[in-house]
Amino acid sequence: MLIINDEQRLQAGIPSLSEQCPCCGKALATYPLILSDDVEQTVYHAACAIEVATEILVDVYLLQSPCSTGAALCPVGPSRREIASLLR
Ligand SMILES: [Zn+2]
Repeated sequence: MLIINDEQRLQAGIPSLSEQCPCCGKALATYPLILSDDVEQTVYHAACAIEVATEILVDVYLLQSPCSTGAALCPVGPSRREIASLLR
């Protein structure tokens, strides 16, 4: 869920914008923020949530992409962070 004001932030259980983002460790500080829909309902910077989502998409893509050589094992390629940075 997107959080764009103090009322939504308080409803998400975040008393202050000085709370730390669990992804980067910096203060939440400004809107927009993202409330995850997991059990813990974690609040992230929107940019951090996008970074996490991108890394998950890259992982899923790499798991489901067949090797171009048809070999049982794929050669080691760029790290998922390197691929994620290319997608930004
Ligand atoms: Zn963050």
